[in-house]
Amino acid sequence: MLNLSVVLEDGARNVPEKECLVFGDLRLNYAFTNAITNQVANLLVSRGVRPGDRVALASPNLPYFPFVYYGALKAGAIVVPLNVLLTPREIAYHLEDSGAKALFSFTGSPELPLGEYAFEAFQQVDTCETYIDLPASPGATESTIEGAETLWKAVESMPAEFESVRTEADDTAVIIYTSGTTGRPKGAELSHHNLMMNAVGSANLVNAHPDGRDVALAVLPLFHIFGQTVMLNAALYRRATMVLMPRFDGNEALRLMEKESVTSFAGVPTMYWGLLNAVKEAEPNTYGLEGIADNLVDAVSGGAALPAQLAEDFTETFGVGIKEGYGLSETSPVVSFNNPKVKAKTGSIGRPVWGVEIKLIDGDWNEQDEVGEIAVRGHCVMKGYHNRPETNAEIIKDGWFRTGDIARRDEEGFYFIVDRSKDMIIRGGYNVYPREIEEVLMTHEAVSLAAVIGVPHQTHGEEVKAFVIRRPGVSIEADELVAWAKERLAGYKYPREIEFRDELPMTSTGKILKRELRN
Ligand code: AMP
Repeated sequence: MLNLSVVLEDGARNVPEKECLVFGDLRLNYAFTNAITNQVANLLVSRGVRPGDRVALASPNLPYFPFVYYGALKAGAIVVPLNVLLTPREIAYHLEDSGAKALFSFTGSPELPLGEYAFEAFQQVDTCETYIDLPASPGATESTIEGAETLWKAVESMPAEFESVRTEADDTAVIIYTSGTTGRPKGAELSHHNLMMNAVGSANLVNAHPDGRDVALAVLPLFHIFGQTVMLNAALYRRATMVLMPRFDGNEALRLMEKESVTSFAGVPTMYWGLLNAVKEAEPNTYGLEGIADNLVDAVSGGAALPAQLAEDFTETFGVGIKEGYGLSETSPVVSFNNPKVKAKTGSIGRPVWGVEIKLIDGDWNEQDEVGEIAVRGHCVMKGYHNRPETNAEIIKDGWFRTGDIARRDEEGFYFIVDRSKDMIIRGGYNVYPREIEEVLMTHEAVSLAAVIGVPHQTHGEEVKAFVIRRPGVSIEADELVAWAKERLAGYKYPREIEFRDELPMTSTGKILKRELRN
């Protein structure tokens, strides 16, 4: 079977002059991007990297990411993308756990000491033999890190042609470490087949502009599976132009959407929330909102539950409905999609995508009719966690992978996520699903964002507590909001405690860190 890097190679063959990557003033076409990945592949081979070896990559959304990602894949290596916010200790853990032989890292700005951290970790891990610095200034041949070599220096003498290593469908392409909101990060092994099927499937769900333009704002981190499949592999497969944005900021996103006439946006719900807030807080006429809305023909949300109110507000402002997808790192990621082209239901994650099955199970794998834990089978399911045979045996059975997410299925086969099994609060013997409470709170005009957790309670075991960000300029007190919630929710569900915050702790992929709130 073809190597996953064919998504780029094919574009280079067919639309060589078309813009592939845009970052600031840098505009790189498909041919140029592909040529650099060939140089990276040649570099890796010259450094002794062989098919099946692991190559770690720590880079924000910059052209470096695709350069190294496809370069390593072409050489038959397995890419291990790293979260850019890791500390030296954590990077060392990822290098050791994956057995990475080479590490490429961006030498970040002062706010992001990634390069220094990565180099420190590299020096601690003997099995990692090559360190390549991705310098802040493009083309720089001198590294700011003593003893490190820059990519530009390293590829200077490398040929720009390379014949990609042919891979078997089941060969691992990427080991992606799961978001780390649960226990120690584990590396999900995703094969070329897993990722190719998901890229093609996702690409088919995205609308191009009626005039044929396809410009994607790549702000979801590419080291995370959602960004990697939807904004990298699927975007290049469609031969779209990727506008790279290293860090989400609502204002900057709107500016880029306007400047680059962006046609498709994919984000986690907090990004949608950020876009709307930026619009609300902006002085009139800061952005050509009408133009942005005219260009924008596709909006996808995933990674966390999309509150119905947020979806409604977004559609009202930007004139495009948000399509909600559901998936996990372990499933490459897309499992299901609420697809308006066929049929969509508010608040649903839709039905399984082509070639993927879902069943609902209890703790002993017994099938359930209406509510249960989602188990998934199909082309998207990972090979397993790297070097974790015992865990794999617990979570994958007869091809079915258990997700830890609880869902309800309606009579038409639409799934509605109720919650993560471990986020469920048990108050006085009743199950409370935080998501339901958050949805209700967010319909209050003063509430901008809400996160609900369970806190220990002497008699009830757990009590429901909400953390709330208020909308700017609107005032409300905790007891008023508690009373308001009480009118709308059963006695065992409404939050007795509300804490106002200016911001909530988030993962770098934009999910609220409930574990941190619990601490
Ligand atoms: P990750 O591996 O970081 O992509 O996280 C996967 C988890 O994100 C899933 O197990 C779900 O708990 C959550 N998730 C993803 N998509 C959705 C969605 N549309 N609605 C609710 N939760 C979601």
